[in-house]
Amino acid sequence: MVSDDPGLPLPWLAEPLRQALQTRRAHALLLYGPKGVGQFELATALAQAWLCELNGPNASAAQPYACGHCASCRLVLARSHPDLLVLLPEALRESLGWAGGEGEEGASDKASKAKPSKDIKVEAVRAAVSFAQTTSARGRGKVVVVHPAERMNAIAANTLLKTLEEPPGDSRFVLSCAAPEVLLPTIRSRCQALPLGLPPTAEASAWLAARSIVRPEVLLAAAGGQPLEALEWAADGIDATLWLRVPGWVANGEAAPFAAWPLPRLVDALQKLCHDALCRVAGAAPRYFPESALPAKGGSFASLTSWSQALARNARHAEHPWNAPLTVEALVQQGRAALQDNVKDRTVAGVVKQGLSVHFRA
Ligand SMILES: [Zn+2]
Repeated sequence: MVSDDPGLPLPWLAEPLRQALQTRRAHALLLYGPKGVGQFELATALAQAWLCELNGPNASAAQPYACGHCASCRLVLARSHPDLLVLLPEALRESLGWAGGEGEEGASDKASKAKPSKDIKVEAVRAAVSFAQTTSARGRGKVVVVHPAERMNAIAANTLLKTLEEPPGDSRFVLSCAAPEVLLPTIRSRCQALPLGLPPTAEASAWLAARSIVRPEVLLAAAGGQPLEALEWAADGIDATLWLRVPGWVANGEAAPFAAWPLPRLVDALQKLCHDALCRVAGAAPRYFPESALPAKGGSFASLTSWSQALARNARHAEHPWNAPLTVEALVQQGRAALQDNVKDRTVAGVVKQGLSVHFRA
């Protein structure tokens, strides 16, 4: 991840980081919020601040962050601090810049040619527990970061639970998570929770603009206000111009422009288009597309509702893109049909407004 300040990777994390550093007595923290706002970056910034050998012991409201240049900070930035263990699913290590992590999952994973795991395995959690029980190498305690915590299955979570109940010595745990409701209640209750909201639009747009994102406000809205997500869309080649053309392509049944889109992105985009079309039927403002980008024909409550249900089923299978070209064509035609059905159904407009949050999890 791009970093302007080695102690503070994302500007909107300053305040949450300051709050987290005030929880001095907590041995286990749970950072949670929408996926693309930077929980992982906050978790590692917090670990770095705790381990920092200059500011760590003297962290104050005025200077709460890691210094960025002491031996400890340099080790964290080099991903080789002996007192920091970052537990990530294999599938996320490279994209989060922790591919060379040491002391993590066993050699069995390296040897196998299987698809990288999206789960945090029980063996890795056991290794983290033993790591936390050993003496701190640099004398400032030990830190274990677990991200995303919801990727631990019940056995892995139970393995961690015993340690969270009685953290050994001066070790601390930071769990970061986008779906706290799927964690074991016993895990949640052992952690001090720190919610992370969406960053202010202006701040997030400026940050994206500094990363050469053209018309960042468009892509930021496309990503539901989550700047890291917006950056991922851009990395997949989806820019503002393309995004604004999505409603028109779907309304005209044009599947070709989506040929190179990863299937989960396409399903996500269609869900957002369906959401905004439903908003319009209900007389509410769209969220992901500007009003002007939505097609003239908007669909009816009935057609859009059944489209949203079909998309929800597709979303569950979108990570297995068998026969992708046919799938893309079918998805786009389904959208075209839903948007063309213009039966007026004003009586249920109010229900749509209330029901949106049920169909779509923001
Ligand atoms: Zn430092």
